[in-house]
Amino acid sequence: TKATTTKRTVARGEKIAYLTFDDGPSINTEKLLDILDQYNAKATFFVIYHKNMEKKYKAIVDRGHTIALHSYTHTYSKIYKSEKGYYEDLNKIHDYVQKVTGVDSRIIRFPGGSSNTVSRKYNKTIMKTLKQSVTDKGYYFHDWNVDSTDASGINRDPDLLVSKVKSGSKNKNVINVLMHDTGKSKVTTVEALPRIIEYLQSQGYKLEPLTEDSVVIQHKW
Ligand code: ZN
Repeated sequence: TKATTTKRTVARGEKIAYLTFDDGPSINTEKLLDILDQYNAKATFFVIYHKNMEKKYKAIVDRGHTIALHSYTHTYSKIYKSEKGYYEDLNKIHDYVQKVTGVDSRIIRFPGGSSNTVSRKYNKTIMKTLKQSVTDKGYYFHDWNVDSTDASGINRDPDLLVSKVKSGSKNKNVINVLMHDTGKSKVTTVEALPRIIEYLQSQGYKLEPLTEDSVVIQHKW
């Protein structure tokens, strides 16, 4: 059965920021959660499977954030080869998250985003197929419209990450900010986060976790 949902309406002049962290949890998760707490900010973690990190998945939920589904393996050749391969992987992370946290998540982000072109190497039409079928199955997929660019290198200069969020959010009332929670290679994301939050709050953004009612940012293609 497909639930009917009412999308959150955005009032004139209202500004909403969805901070999103992909690929975790990691050794940085606790630090990210502490910073978010300091600013009373809520965020969304698009998780993958990591062994022996049950406590971190739980902490995300217990501290009021949204745990959402990214991938079990994050292996493009497997998930983008066929619809069957994709859903085997998605169901695995869905069930793992549910087992560990109790959350039956319907909120997803495709590895590489829905507009990724890497998948074409494995199956030319897979993204078109998946975008339709995840929606038919009652999932909500979210891309982003502000890229911190923390995935474009290892420990990119935190000043650069802050400035990318500043420039990327310009003239946008609803933003979905892409960041990563991947441990040693993304320490500067942790360093930049306080300034990113301070900037967004100073610009009047409310920092909300994604829910099934949230505004959906999806790439056009
Ligand atoms: Zn990812």
